Parts: sequence; C-alpha cells; structure tokens
Amino acid sequence: MAHNAYTVTLIPGDGIGPEVTEAACRVLEATGLSFTWDVQNAGAAVAEREGTPLPDAVLDSIRAHGVALKGPVTTPIGSGFRSVNVGIRKALDLYANVRPALTLPGLPRSHPNVDLIVVRENTEGLYTGIEHEVIPDVAAEATRIITRRASERVVRYAFEYARRNGRRGVTVVHKANILKITDGLFLKVAREVAQDYPDIALREMIVDAMCMQLVVQPEAYDVLVTTNLFGDIVSDLCAGLVGGLGVAPGANIGEHIAVFEPVHGSAPDIAGKDIANPIAATLTGALMLRHLGEREAAAQVESAIASVIAAGRVITADLKSGLPGARVVGTRAMADEIIHNLLTN
Ligand code: ATP
Repeated sequence: MAHNAYTVTLIPGDGIGPEVTEAACRVLEATGLSFTWDVQNAGAAVAEREGTPLPDAVLDSIRAHGVALKGPVTTPIGSGFRSVNVGIRKALDLYANVRPALTLPGLPRSHPNVDLIVVRENTEGLYTGIEHEVIPDVAAEATRIITRRASERVVRYAFEYARRNGRRGVTVVHKANILKITDGLFLKVAREVAQDYPDIALREMIVDAMCMQLVVQPEAYDVLVTTNLFGDIVSDLCAGLVGGLGVAPGANIGEHIAVFEPVHGSAPDIAGKDIANPIAATLTGALMLRHLGEREAAAQVESAIASVIAAGRVITADLKSGLPGARVVGTRAMADEIIHNLLTN
C-alpha cells in the first residue's frame, strides 16, 4: 500500500455533487493514499450566503494546492456569471478539457472496445458566448476567436498526452472546409505541432464526418483534439458510446493547476435521494490520481469499477435497463461495492 499524502481542494458542488464526490473521496482513500480535503463551496448554495457563486477563497485554495476535485455546480441566474464552471476554467487558465471515454465491459448500451480521449480547447471559440443582437429580434451575431497560442498549446497537450500514454495517433477535428480562417488556423497549427511528434500519427477529420465515424467505428480512433464547441458536442457523443453521463469522467488542465470534474451536471431531479451514479466522479478521481503520479492507485480504482460492472450483480438506477439481472443500489452502496472490490483484489 502507498502512503503518500496530498492536500486537494474539494468542491462538493450542487445537486448530486455532494453525494457523488463523497463517494469518490471514500474510494480514493481506500487506496491507502492519504488526503487532506480543503473543502470549498461554490455554486448556487453558496451564492445565497456570500453573494457570489464563486468566492475568491475557492480560487485561492485551488491555486495554493494546484489540484481540485469538483462536483457539478449550478450558476444562479443574475449572479453575474454566464457559467461558474467556465469562470473557474478562465480564472485559472485551464486550457485543456480532457474527457476519456472507455468501454466498461458488461455495461448496458455500451459500444465494445472504445478507448477514446477527447481533448477540447477550453478558453476560446464559440463557447465563450461573445454575442449580441445586431437588430433586436431580427438579427444576432456571435464572435468566434481562435488564436495560434491557444490552438498550439491544446494540440501540443494532445500530442504530449499521446506520447506519455503510448497512444497510436491524434485526430484533429475541425470544419476548416467552411470556417476557412478560424478552423483553418487551428488545423494549420495542428499540422505544425505534429511535425515535432514523428512517432505519433496525425489524422484530420471534418467534425460532421467525425461524428458519423464515432458512431460507426469508434474503436478506430484514439486521441481527438478540437476546438471548444465541437469538443463540447463530440465529448458528449463519446460519453454516450460508453454508457452515458453516469460513467463519464473529465479533467481541466492548466500549466500548473488541474481541476477534475465529472462531465455530468447537478441533476436536480435525482439530488439528495442517494440514487446518483458515483462512477463518473470516482473515475474522475482516478484521473486525478494519475495526474498526481499515482498510476498504481489509479489503476486499482479503475479496475475495481470495471470488476463491479463486469460482475453484473449490482448497478445504479441510471443503467438498470440493460442489466435486468442486477440489483439496483444507491450511491453509497455502489461506492461500498467498489471499495470492497478494491480491498479484496
Ligand atoms: P445542470 O443544470 O447542472 O447541467 P442537468 O440536470 O441539466 O444539470 P445533467 O445533470 O448533466 O444536466 O444530466 C441530465 C440528466 O442525466 C439528469 O437530470 C439525470 O437524470 C441524469 N444524470 C446525470 N448525471 C447522473 C449521474 N451521475 N447518475 C445518474 N443520473 C445522472
């Protein structure tokens, strides 16, 4: 057992956030690593008390520790934020959003043999929402800024990730046939960066063709890198290929800071009922372990989750439909099952 100790900012968040992050923390602690969780509150609940959904203390804590595990947070209307999540990414310059989509054998509605990593540019593009009405109710305009700097660092991150993790290739996903200037720049920079990585193959795919390919033969692809809005859409498609939001982890990576958060939102419809699937948050925790250099502990967590799914004895309600033989368990019981597996294998 390992005995390394880490201090991590923990943002439980809104809705199902506190339940799934609590479950994830218990699983991470079961690896034998020692964590001090610096709990910081952001989102709708804290906005009422402090007047802002993103108090400075939250960002200060993440800056101090360099790493955070975050549940989903809701952005209250009228809070001055378009999105607290985007606010955190911007304030900390978390330029790469990384979303793995990996088949868990035995999971219903899951495509076999998918092992994709979507690397999404996180700081610019259409997702920043720079838009205005040109003539109210008649015409509206959005501004899409693509820069060489942001394109280069996210593409470089994708290639470095590929090299570090023994990946076969990087596919740059774009629409440069139509958006000749903006996506043209992204594609041009990708080709330039690829020259520095002769050991990693560069493929180019137009985003619409990419979506079709991902549905038809996702196993043929490996690391994908793309601009902000395309990445938002393509990564949800990839999550759907491997079982949906309940099992989709994510990470936001900056130069010296990383914030780990599941892809799903706060799911208010199921909050507080102990029925949310904690696997997405727990796999997110495993990504964090790998970032901390704890590869063995990360593999332990991932393989415990895979074993629980493969055994097919228990499942959370979101995935029940395809597993008629499995007993439905709640958030806490699923975490217990993963921990039991981790400790006995
Ligand atoms: P937000 O407004 O914070 O984005 P949302 O409800 O609009 O929240 P999500 O939470 O991302 O969006 O997901 C939509 C639906 O998917 C939820 O309402 C919920 O039914 C289901 N869902 C999401 N995450 C989970 C999970 N971890 N376990 C089970 N079901 C989930």
